Amino acid sequence: MSEIPETVRAEMLAHAKACLPNEACGYLVGDSPAGRIQRFVPITNAARSPTRFVFEPHEQLAAEQAIDAAGEQVIGIAHSHPNGEPAPSAVDIDDARRFDPFGMLLHVVIALTTGEIRSHRIINGEVASV
Ligand SMILES: [Zn+2]
Repeated sequence: MSEIPETVRAEMLAHAKACLPNEACGYLVGDSPAGRIQRFVPITNAARSPTRFVFEPHEQLAAEQAIDAAGEQVIGIAHSHPNGEPAPSAVDIDDARRFDPFGMLLHVVIALTTGEIRSHRIINGEVASV
């Protein structure tokens, strides 16, 4: 499992609180696909919704280009649930089927009611905690 460093957890939590009442989202980045998470890259939630997130496409592309240029890798996606559980929702599972069909990404969910942060893999619509 990819451990999430305390500094990254704190960054995610602060960003998630700043985006209330809506969900917050961003990339978790490391030095290799199977490597350790080193930083959180916030990306605007274009859905501006408390129950779903959509990466703002121009910011997403710019973030991916910067990550590539730095020789880094996207390891996962983090997003917050302002009022929900620290587990992927039905919408998250449905979206993951399209953007992560092979379960390559770590799906990190931050539950703001409790501050709990949990990591998951989503493969073929099945969620596993990691
Ligand atoms: Zn969600």
